[in-house]
Amino acid sequence: MHRYSNTRELGRHFLQIPGPTNVPDRILRAIDRPTIDHRSVEFAQLARECLEGMKMVFKMDSGHVFIYPASGTGAWEAAIVNTFSPGERVLMFETGHFATLWRAIAESFGLVVDFLPGDWRHGVDPTVVGSKLTADAEHEIKAVICVHNETSTGVTSRIGEVRRAMDAANHPALLIVDVISSLASIDYRQDEWRVDVAVAGSQKGLMLPPGLGFNAVSEKAIAVSKKACLPRSFWAWDSMLEPNESGFFPYTPATNLLFGLREAISMLVSEEGLQNVFHRHYRHAEATRRAVQAWGLELLCQEPEEYSNSLTAVLLPEGFDEAEFRRLVLENFNLSLGSGLGKLKGRVFRIGHLGDFNDLMLCGTLCGVEMGLRKSGVPFRQKGVEAAIEYLSSELREQTCVSK
Ligand code: PLP
Repeated sequence: MHRYSNTRELGRHFLQIPGPTNVPDRILRAIDRPTIDHRSVEFAQLARECLEGMKMVFKMDSGHVFIYPASGTGAWEAAIVNTFSPGERVLMFETGHFATLWRAIAESFGLVVDFLPGDWRHGVDPTVVGSKLTADAEHEIKAVICVHNETSTGVTSRIGEVRRAMDAANHPALLIVDVISSLASIDYRQDEWRVDVAVAGSQKGLMLPPGLGFNAVSEKAIAVSKKACLPRSFWAWDSMLEPNESGFFPYTPATNLLFGLREAISMLVSEEGLQNVFHRHYRHAEATRRAVQAWGLELLCQEPEEYSNSLTAVLLPEGFDEAEFRRLVLENFNLSLGSGLGKLKGRVFRIGHLGDFNDLMLCGTLCGVEMGLRKSGVPFRQKGVEAAIEYLSSELREQTCVSK
């Protein structure tokens, strides 16, 4: 029970972890319908709208989007088992906790992973990608596998530059990217960057509850998968392609989540527009960074070009425990913040500012953090929320000027 009331929870909970994110009422209403027959004409129409709509979200014209009733971890596994044969060599990068977990999946399927070490404060270095591939004259490396936005660190890797480094090395490796916390929040371009497999989930920028996993796959990767021989059954792209043509799935799909997905695609693509979605995320991220810097706290991400627009990871000073800080914030202000993951446990808390979110929700979140800092005794300067408000208001003034 929260300290401000010992009888009941007052107002709405602030869910500002970096996913699952807040589900808009419109999406909840869309999901809140009687489940329909997944072999009906009505369902086929729904599935086609989702499959085609997701291509717009991934920014792809060719290839195929596979939708699984699964979390992101399932979609990670799907990307691996459809693409490789045992013993094949791949390049992965230690950008944080999620890159480390994905590596473990690849290794558990017998891939030989060249896992390039990192400090969890930087993204994938495109020059290292270039030199590794150039040195691989025999083309033994079958894929470059990256996490676009490391949700554990708030660092966004520059996938366009990774692609350019691969092209400069003239290497045929596949490019496989986890876009779980970047899709529909941070600009992602499947076709332009010639990404072969992108892995996504429903519970972040898509503003849905957890439960859908995605593989967005190029024609090249579909061709490679026909020869790949890792064991697969539930995840097999092959068995999904034909039924999807007519709007069906080889097994029972998550029907009601697909109602929600159709609504989300409409909100993001047709109504707000993806460029506006990205700009909104940039604004909220920039306001958050200004607040953190004004507090005199340290951003975990050390490279401004790699600042994440979907979350901000903040280092607490030595001697202060993030779990204790988050507990205090939750109990006093009904605000959930993201925890420190893996080797950042105890040291870093994360502010999620992705998904369905507006200026006042951000201000409330930052107020919760600032009040938590006051109560916890963490040394900080007072004016973080003010810095964020100043930035948000000046940006609004600029927008007004432009539209006149
Ligand atoms: N990859 C990234 C970047 C994530 O943020 C997450 C979860 O937060 C995952 C993978 C794993 O996804 P899930 O927890 O849905 O299985």
